[in-house]
Amino acid sequence: MALKTPEQYEESLRRMRFRVYLMGERVTSPVDHPIIRPSMNSVKMTYALAGMPEHEDLMTALSHLTGEKINRFCHIHQDTDDLIKKVKMQRLLGQKTGACFQRCVGMDAINAVYSVTFEMDRKLGTSYHERFLKFLRTMQEEDWTVDGAMTDPKGDRGLPPSRQADPDLYTRVVEKRRDGIVVRGAKAHQTGAVNSHWILVMPTMTMTAQDKDYALAFAAPADADGILYVYGRQSCDTRKLEGGEIDVGNREFGGHEALMVFEDLFVPWENVFMYGEHEFSGALVERFAGYHRQSYGGCKVGVGDVLIGAAALIADYNGAGKASHIRDKLIEMIHLNETLYSCGIACSAEGHRTPSGNYLIDLLLANVCKQNVTRFPYEIARLAEDIAGGLMVTMPSERDLRHPEIGKVLDKYLRGVASVPTEHRCRVMRLIENITLGTAAVGYRTESLHGAGSPQAQRIMIARQGNLEQKKKLAKEIARIKD
Ligand code: SF4
Ligand code: FE
Repeated sequence: MALKTPEQYEESLRRMRFRVYLMGERVTSPVDHPIIRPSMNSVKMTYALAGMPEHEDLMTALSHLTGEKINRFCHIHQDTDDLIKKVKMQRLLGQKTGACFQRCVGMDAINAVYSVTFEMDRKLGTSYHERFLKFLRTMQEEDWTVDGAMTDPKGDRGLPPSRQADPDLYTRVVEKRRDGIVVRGAKAHQTGAVNSHWILVMPTMTMTAQDKDYALAFAAPADADGILYVYGRQSCDTRKLEGGEIDVGNREFGGHEALMVFEDLFVPWENVFMYGEHEFSGALVERFAGYHRQSYGGCKVGVGDVLIGAAALIADYNGAGKASHIRDKLIEMIHLNETLYSCGIACSAEGHRTPSGNYLIDLLLANVCKQNVTRFPYEIARLAEDIAGGLMVTMPSERDLRHPEIGKVLDKYLRGVASVPTEHRCRVMRLIENITLGTAAVGYRTESLHGAGSPQAQRIMIARQGNLEQKKKLAKEIARIKD
């Protein structure tokens, strides 16, 4: 089976035995938990759209390993067209969910591990790439959602991994066995963790020789013994426990992050893709981060489309849709959003072939893309809040709206344009609140800042890739300066 239906995806998760805690309680069935389920629905959408003929071109690809039709989230990019379609697919999914659909971390991880294991084997005579191909083939056949995992907790940021007071603050090998390794440590902020079938772990940063125990890449079933998840909170998450649908803003979809803890997890050698080769850790980090910085030029833009649409709607419902300053703010939002998209497309179009044969984005442009993402969604959110008005954060609850007496009062006094039902106005206000301040704000705001690396990480890459020396040479030539 190369393509799962959305129902098969949900069923496959239901059979898994995750050890997950949420608000101090063990969750027995994550897919049915009201706080978790919307995030599962977002991943489910990646399966649903892949089965629709009108989205086949963006959502699926032909496997370069088997020639079979597979979900693009399991695909190894074969040319710049694949890179561009990836971004377009992410924009589409952002538009359909208004949230983080989580599956991209695995797609970005497989593409990074693919090229780096190839180069490692070529230089060191190891056989990681072959092992990885076996994993990849099964991932494609089973249509797995894979959770790419990079960020370690990191403890004291002023100290390298091996000098931390607690050595487990970076994920490491604590025992080497004949049949595999035993891993201890954690990965933080793990997007989509308990909606995934497998995890693909990578080192968190460039490791030096003294930290080679931390230069580690491997795959494991997401519900393996030895993995514990502690589900992350999101602003306004308990509204999902109230059973309504207006106050949550986006009833069906969401995203999630969790702390993933390896409590002496055993990994057989066949699933180990880097073990101490610290000189390749930097390339793996740089490529995964690069791909994920490209990803944001798609997913954030799709969610931005929803937010801009909501802002335009509330302007209409408020009776201000024709005001020139409102139109100008909407134009500004579109301009910012399309600038992000342009960066996502540009770093894809300028991609190049790696020695392994897959395609890597232009790293300078991918980092420019993500640096813009650390800023523009904040401005788009500010403008949406400006257009919506203060009621977005002072509006009474859905229960008051539904109350037999109070409801009539609210219906009268919360009305904008007379022809638009008050409830429509409330729904759009709550959607804007959800994306800018509520559960989806994790993905649209703070994740725009820190996801795929904090702003400073991109500035370091921009400095490295920006080629200032060549620019100085250009200036000297024009100014006729001869050294
Ligand atoms: Fe995908 Fe965007 Fe979520 Fe990252 S933040 S997993 S790129 S939807
Ligand atoms: Fe992310």
